[in-house]
Amino acid sequence: MQIELTGHEALIFKKIARAAEELSMPCYLIGGFVRDKLLGRPTKDADIVCIGDGIKLAHEVAELFNPKPAVAYFKNFGTAQIKIPGLEIEFVGARKESYAPHSRKPAVETGTLEDDLNRRDFTINALAISLNKNDYGELVDAFNGVQHLHEKLIKTPLEPVTTFSDDPLRMMRAIRFATQLGFTIEKDTFNAIKKDAERIKIISQERITDELNKIMLAEKPSVGWFLLRDSGLLQIIFPGLLELQGAEYVDGIGHKDNFTHTLQVLDNMAAKTNDLWLRWAALLHDIAKPATKRFSKEEGWTFHGHEAVGARMVPKIFARLKLPQSEKMKLVQKLVALHLRPISLTKENITDSAIRRLLFDAGDDIDALMMLCEADITSKNKMKVKRYLSNFEIVRKRLIEVEEKDKIRNWQPPITGEIIMETFGLPPGRQIGIIKDAIREAILDGEIPNEYEAAYNLMIEKAAALNLKPLA
Ligand code: ATP
Repeated sequence: MQIELTGHEALIFKKIARAAEELSMPCYLIGGFVRDKLLGRPTKDADIVCIGDGIKLAHEVAELFNPKPAVAYFKNFGTAQIKIPGLEIEFVGARKESYAPHSRKPAVETGTLEDDLNRRDFTINALAISLNKNDYGELVDAFNGVQHLHEKLIKTPLEPVTTFSDDPLRMMRAIRFATQLGFTIEKDTFNAIKKDAERIKIISQERITDELNKIMLAEKPSVGWFLLRDSGLLQIIFPGLLELQGAEYVDGIGHKDNFTHTLQVLDNMAAKTNDLWLRWAALLHDIAKPATKRFSKEEGWTFHGHEAVGARMVPKIFARLKLPQSEKMKLVQKLVALHLRPISLTKENITDSAIRRLLFDAGDDIDALMMLCEADITSKNKMKVKRYLSNFEIVRKRLIEVEEKDKIRNWQPPITGEIIMETFGLPPGRQIGIIKDAIREAILDGEIPNEYEAAYNLMIEKAAALNLKPLA
């Protein structure tokens, strides 16, 4: 099969072909680039495999561009990279790999194109396009990759057990590609993952999490999490999520399966935003339900406090998954902590002070929080969904009204800790916090106006109760 290489990239590939010919070094476009071209997906990087020294070829290619791009190369790995506007190109010599049982670090030797295709993870990633003069543009498809692209199938080129045992990261990659591309994992390939799942333990957490993040960023991330569950990998890499699964019954009263619910919330969130962290917040919003689950005759099943307990679990989960301990983690924590608050505001006559409090606690993340709450509606009953959504619409309106009036989102009380310290000649300490909190609470509750003088008077009053007198 002949592949037409067109557009801006075609000129680049012609130059690579010229350089390769000058060096008498056959070379091929390979892997993800070829797969994505055939699928019509956008591509930003291209891998070139040559039968020879990839670093030498990269330098020869760079000479043909004006301005000449820098060549970044790694002698130990025999790889080189050049960046042309719009395309990053990686060069490597064809290799043959053999693996020792307890490592994913292969012994590498130079090899033929066939050797190189044999060590690829899936048939759809083991496609190559010749850049050689005699058959330029010819597709090399040793394992029916094209057919599998049509059939939407993830399948290993060699025996799946060998492929996965050589490099267990490929199990995660299989699930990630199935999720990103909407493909099915072929039966024998999936069975091999099930059989070998334990071997994921030799893979670094960073690599596993990299794949998890790619799953999270897919259009329908639930697909990946269900596959992780069904393959047995989830039990090993994130057992806490699996604990959400199942519905328990007492006296014929059950509760919903929180695993399925959570993944539905995740997909709902994914339909609203591409933000990775908001998607993690959706995945983790009910994570403490198993830990807080109780049954009583009066109340049935309850999960009291799961939002607060869940927020406390977030840093541990992030540490275990080696996700960054950053502002992003704090955002996830905050959303988990607050995810029931807007719902509580739909139940009663909403006072301004309740709205102010939510605005104050959520700050600039109020929109993200409302998004999570709406994603959290997973009822199959259309009438119910409509009612919940219209309740949230009312909360949204009130949030806008109160914010316009009181500007609470990024608000700080008019009396700061420093003012309190100066007024009473105090060092930093517990008393400052007590007075500051009292002022903030009084303003949020609408007991005093949001003004300096009223706040100052309250400060004097609260300080007197603590036996403090202002300096003369
Ligand atoms: P993406 O860019 O979405 O991650 P990709 O297929 O381009 O997808 P890369 O990680 O860039 O993924 O890998 C490029 C190619 O290298 C793959 O298409 C595949 O042929 C091969 N490859 C990558 N990782 C592995 C692996 N662990 N085992 C075998 N082959 C791999």
